[in-house]
Amino acid sequence: MRPDLLQRLAQARAARAEHDLVRRLRTVDSARGRQIRIDGRSLLDFASNDYLGLSQDPAVRDALVDGARRWGVGAGAAHLLGGHRAPHAALEDALAEWTGRERALLFSTGYMANLGVMQALLARGDACIADKLDHASLLDAARMTGCELKRYVHADVDSARRQLDALPGAAALLATDGVFSMDGDVAPLADLAALCREQGASFLVDDAHGLGVLGPRGAGSLAEAGLGEDDAPILMATLGKALGVAGAFVAGSAALIDGLVQFARSHVYTTAMPPALAAATLVSLAIARDDDALRTTLAERIAQFRDAAQQRGIHLFDSRTPIQPVPVGDSGAALAAAARLAEAGFFVPAIRPPTVPQGSARLRVSLSAAHSAEDVERLVEALATVLA
Ligand SMILES: *Cc1c(COP(=O)(O)O)cnc(C)c1O
Repeated sequence: MRPDLLQRLAQARAARAEHDLVRRLRTVDSARGRQIRIDGRSLLDFASNDYLGLSQDPAVRDALVDGARRWGVGAGAAHLLGGHRAPHAALEDALAEWTGRERALLFSTGYMANLGVMQALLARGDACIADKLDHASLLDAARMTGCELKRYVHADVDSARRQLDALPGAAALLATDGVFSMDGDVAPLADLAALCREQGASFLVDDAHGLGVLGPRGAGSLAEAGLGEDDAPILMATLGKALGVAGAFVAGSAALIDGLVQFARSHVYTTAMPPALAAATLVSLAIARDDDALRTTLAERIAQFRDAAQQRGIHLFDSRTPIQPVPVGDSGAALAAAARLAEAGFFVPAIRPPTVPQGSARLRVSLSAAHSAEDVERLVEALATVLA
């Protein structure tokens, strides 16, 4: 007899429940700065990727409203069919300039950007060499192309080399997060770039968590490592994290971008992002690029969090970015700790498998320039109590 798909889905869901792995959508009723209201409780938000606080910036909000007044709400069509409006073009130019690349191309989300770039580049018989901890969108994208997907030990350049050596004749793309989204560490970008050069492989860096945060003028993890377009020819980053808006882009040579316009299906066959979002992002980009004081504040909060946690014997990951996970291990224990933190007034999500490897559940603290020193102090106190 034919298996029933909905029944199979329900069984998989029930299996998750047995292991404390069910996900639940929770509705946030209001968000004011770093304070969110959820399940009737007002909590300090330590879950957001809005590292510079720009999602609530008055100038960015005004730009969104002005953009909607001038351009309406929806773009009304795909980029190639009349949806590509002046704010999109201006944003692409500004992103290319900021990241030191010849050109940039917008996508509606980071997930779609990774699908589009991989699908334009890779085919059956090619190889994608990916870090074990790469973001799910990179792994899904590689699988979609039908290429051979080989994963290397996290941040281990020799392991990546072995994977490339094993497929000497294949066209290859090495893909890594710049900053790893659940661990907060930075990839060994210079060594990976050298490996790609030596091996004749293309190099793709997903800098969703590095842009706006790392490097001179916040230009990202590649800029911090001093790697330009020759070293890292394919840069992807998102606009919904430190830039506080939504969307994503790929930056690189004019030839790369023109190829994506032809072949990246997630760019071609989808409605362009609302032009007002592009207009808002232009303003948030200018702030993220020019306001080094925001990055200084963020660095102070990160240093303060790490010092205070270590003084209280809280174990941390080796991270110098706003992503500061606290290892817990067991999924049930991570959920319980998150629930107790919520009782104490803090929203810190428990991150469980399969988002992270088995046995490595954690509390993912993410810090922002919008947090005050007192916010951070109080969080560390609560963490010490909850984990004791
Ligand atoms: C968030 C994220 C994405 C997806 O970006 P969206 O714009 O949210 O779809 C891709 N890669 C990494 C590393 C991310 O953290």
